[in-house]
Amino acid sequence: MPLALYDTWSRTVRTFTPIDAGRVGMYCCGPTVYDDAHIGNLRTYVFEDVLRRVLMRNGYDVQHVVNITDVGHLTSDADEGEDKMEKGSRRTGESAWAMARRYTDAFVRDWRALRLLEPTVWCRATDHISEQIVFVDRLVRAGYVYRTEDGLYFDSSQQDDYGYLARLNRTGLHAGKRVALGEKKNITDFALWKFSPTGVKRQMEWDSPWGRGFPGWHIECSAMSAKYLGTLFDIHCGGEDHVAVHHSNEIAQTQAAHGTRLANFWMHGHFLTLDADTKMSKSSGDFVRLQTLQRRNVDPIAYRYLCLTAHYRSKLRFTWASLEAAQTALNRLRHFYSGLPGGGRIDPNFEARFDAEVNEDLNAPRALAVLWDLVKSDLPPSTLRATLDSFDVVLGLGLRDWNPVAPEVPADARVLLGERERARAESDWAKADQIRETLRALGWRVEDTNEGQRLFRIALPSTIALPCAEN
Ligand code: AMP
Ligand code: ZN
Repeated sequence: MPLALYDTWSRTVRTFTPIDAGRVGMYCCGPTVYDDAHIGNLRTYVFEDVLRRVLMRNGYDVQHVVNITDVGHLTSDADEGEDKMEKGSRRTGESAWAMARRYTDAFVRDWRALRLLEPTVWCRATDHISEQIVFVDRLVRAGYVYRTEDGLYFDSSQQDDYGYLARLNRTGLHAGKRVALGEKKNITDFALWKFSPTGVKRQMEWDSPWGRGFPGWHIECSAMSAKYLGTLFDIHCGGEDHVAVHHSNEIAQTQAAHGTRLANFWMHGHFLTLDADTKMSKSSGDFVRLQTLQRRNVDPIAYRYLCLTAHYRSKLRFTWASLEAAQTALNRLRHFYSGLPGGGRIDPNFEARFDAEVNEDLNAPRALAVLWDLVKSDLPPSTLRATLDSFDVVLGLGLRDWNPVAPEVPADARVLLGERERARAESDWAKADQIRETLRALGWRVEDTNEGQRLFRIALPSTIALPCAEN
């Protein structure tokens, strides 16, 4: 079953063929480090991690580049407002530089807690100012740039197919939107270089041939991806919000400067939402961090498992109940796995079924269904273990690294457990259920297994109301 992936550019699932045999270049837009990442952002990185693992499973050597946006991302994607970094620095009371370092470190911690594979290259926008200046200069010389009071802008009207990735209706945009154009010639034009406002000393600013200032947000990704992967590479990823503006602009710049549409496949993860439609977003403050889950004793890998239960191209609505269900499923899987002996061989039928699912545009939920079919099968235990090991190379749940540690059960819970055991022996199910609820209120979930009652620590009071911002 050849690998097929959905390409936003063509709006089709098509067979993946690399530009250079055996190698894949993959660029993923990283975080803007003016605050912690939220679990919505992290959903996108989990999708990209699964993509990378599936590419590796198909035998490719993957060059995976992830950037850190530490300058230039304005509070509005339409180039209005303030730099998120300067604004964030006022909020936290640190310098923009110190804040960027702190949130970058926090991001890398989240990354590792989710067992995301380390990128081949992490790159910061502020470490690549000269590459961005060279890129803008190339656009200036190619005649795509005009100057206004506050910066240099890309003239999108010069490209007939500008915005094709988003199937943008430019005429409709002009007619329908009453936005302040300022000195911009077209609504879809965007900043390449912004001047520091006169009389204001910005914390992050650099000299350029056009005046002191800072790069626009989009140019960093075109410049850094060109540096590390070349001007046409295999896959460019990000969240679905990047299609209309950020990625459309990356393509426009690269096409103008180098004549390519930057990447052969454009792939986008869909949002984690709080309710039917509300996107979890950093700027609104309605967000949940990975640390929030960890403080409530939820294993980050349970969140990873939750992400795998939805296809990356459908919205995933976050609820504490679904997270708890993911933790329960993961616990079951871990306990099951840890009881299996080594030394077996992979079952070829199950492996073929699993590969068919992940190769069909990364169908993780169906791959999980194959996994649970395997668990329920009557294959020899050592075969089960070897096959689960093989699945886990793609799922990244770290089954091998997990050690069952019996939680320390306090005396009150132990007494209740004993009473429940007696109630069950006497078939007093009402009492057994009532004790189960009492244990739950004490922070323990009890599961009845063939070996007796088993306790799991929980820290997800079902009464927590969302949104749950913690600034
Ligand atoms: P940012 O830090 O805002 O630049 O975003 C980092 C990544 O997270 C980008 O790829 C975004 O498209 C993605 N993203 C932002 N919000 C969400 C969300 N609610 N669900 C999934 N991905 C998101
Ligand atoms: Zn980007």
